[in-house]
Amino acid sequence: MKRVSILGATGSIGQNTIDLIRRDKSNFDVVALTGGCNVALLAKSAIELGANHAAIADDRLYNDLKDALSGSGIGVSAGRQAIAQAAAMPADWVMSSIVGAAGLEPGLIAMSNGADLALANKESMVAAGGLMKATAAENNVLILPTDSEHSAIFQALMGQSRSAVERVIITASGGPFKDWSNAELATVTPDQAMVHPNWSMGTRITIDSASMFNKGLEVIETKEFFEIEDSQIEVVIHPQSIIHALVGFHDGNLLAHVGPPDMRHAIGFALYYPDRKPLPLNRLELTKIGRLDFSEPDYNRFPALKLAYDVLELGGVAGAVYNAAKEVALDAFIARQIGFLDMAEAVDRTLHRLFAGACELNKDQNLDNILHADNMGRKIGREEIQALSA
Ligand code: NDP
Ligand code: MG
Repeated sequence: MKRVSILGATGSIGQNTIDLIRRDKSNFDVVALTGGCNVALLAKSAIELGANHAAIADDRLYNDLKDALSGSGIGVSAGRQAIAQAAAMPADWVMSSIVGAAGLEPGLIAMSNGADLALANKESMVAAGGLMKATAAENNVLILPTDSEHSAIFQALMGQSRSAVERVIITASGGPFKDWSNAELATVTPDQAMVHPNWSMGTRITIDSASMFNKGLEVIETKEFFEIEDSQIEVVIHPQSIIHALVGFHDGNLLAHVGPPDMRHAIGFALYYPDRKPLPLNRLELTKIGRLDFSEPDYNRFPALKLAYDVLELGGVAGAVYNAAKEVALDAFIARQIGFLDMAEAVDRTLHRLFAGACELNKDQNLDNILHADNMGRKIGREEIQALSA
C-alpha cells in the first residue's frame, strides 16, 4: 500500500489525482487531503477515499468541515498551520497541487518528512528551485515533475545522458489570444481569459496561460529541474497541445513526448513512478488530429515570456519576485483593477525596481531570503499596480 496525501485536493490537479486513485483504491492508503475553502468537495473526497485526515486552509471553516465529516472518523483541522501539519503526516508520496507560492512551504515540509513530491505547483520551483532540490537531496526523496511539459522532458530523458542534451523545447498552445494585436490584447477581460482552448484547469493557471506567464514560469521551472543553460531552453507555439515537449541531443536527434491534453497522464506517471500502470484514459488518435502546427512566440505581444528569460539571467531570488509580482498582478486583473497587458508591465517594473542597480535582496536561496523576496515582490508589485490603475 502506498501512503499518499494530496495538498490542494479540491483543485483541478487534486481532483484529477483523486480520479486516478479512486480507480485503484486498494493500492493506496490516503493519509491527508487539504483544501483552501471548498469544504463540501474536501469532505466528499475525504469520505470517498477513506482519508485519515482533512485540513482546510481557511480557519473560519473549521466547524463547517467538522460538521461535514462528523461520524466519519476522519481527523479535521483548519488554518495555515493545519496545512503544514497535514503535509508533515508520514506518507510515501505527496501531490503538491496548491496554487501559488502558498504551495512552497507545505511541499518542503512533505519532503522533509520523507515523502516523494509530485510537483504540479510550479511556483515552488520558480521561487525556490535551489532550496527544493537541496531539501529533496537531504531527505533522499524525489521531486517528480508533474507539469505536463516537465513530465514530458523527464520521460524523454530517461536512460539518456544529461551531458548529451543540446536543447529542450517546451510547447505553448498560445492561448485564446494567440493572434490578437496589442490593441486587442489591451481590451481582454478576465471572463475572456478564463477560457483555455485545449486544457481544463484552475482559473489562475488558465489566465496565466492566456498571458503566457504560465509559459514564463515553465521556462524557469525547466532550468531548475533539468539544470541546463538559458540558451538551451526554447518555446514553440503549438496550438493543438499534442506535443508537450521535445529534447534535442548533440547528435541532432530529437525526442518528442506526445499525448492528449489530459493532466492525468502526467499525474499517473508520477503516481506510479518508476512503474507504468495501465491507465483507462483516452488514447491519442493521430489520424483524428490530422495536422500539427508550430510557430515562434511573439515576445513583444507576450512580454511575460521575455521577462522569464530576464529572470533566468538574474538568478538567485528573482524567480520568487517574478512569481509574487505576477500573483498580485493577476489578482488585480481578476478584480478588474488593471488591464490584461498591465500584468506584465507591473511585473517588469517590479523586477526593474528590485534588481536594476544595487540589488538589496540577498540572493542566497534559503527560506528566509525567498520569503523576503516574495514579500518584496508583492509589496512593490502592489505599488506598481496602484500606479498603473491610477
Ligand atoms: P486550482 O485553482 O484548481 O486549485 C488550487 C488548489 O489550491 C485548491 O485545492 C485550493 O483550495 C487550494 N488553495 C488555494 N489557495 C490556498 C492556500 N492559500 N492554502 C492552501 N490551499 C490553497 O488550481 P490547479 O489545480 O489548476 O493548479 C494547482 C497547481 O498545479 C498550480 O500551481 C498550477 O500552476 C499547477 N498546474 C496545474 C495544471 C492544471 O492542468 N490545472 C497543469 C500544470 C500545473 P480551494 O479550491 O478549496 O479553495
Ligand atoms: Mg504546463
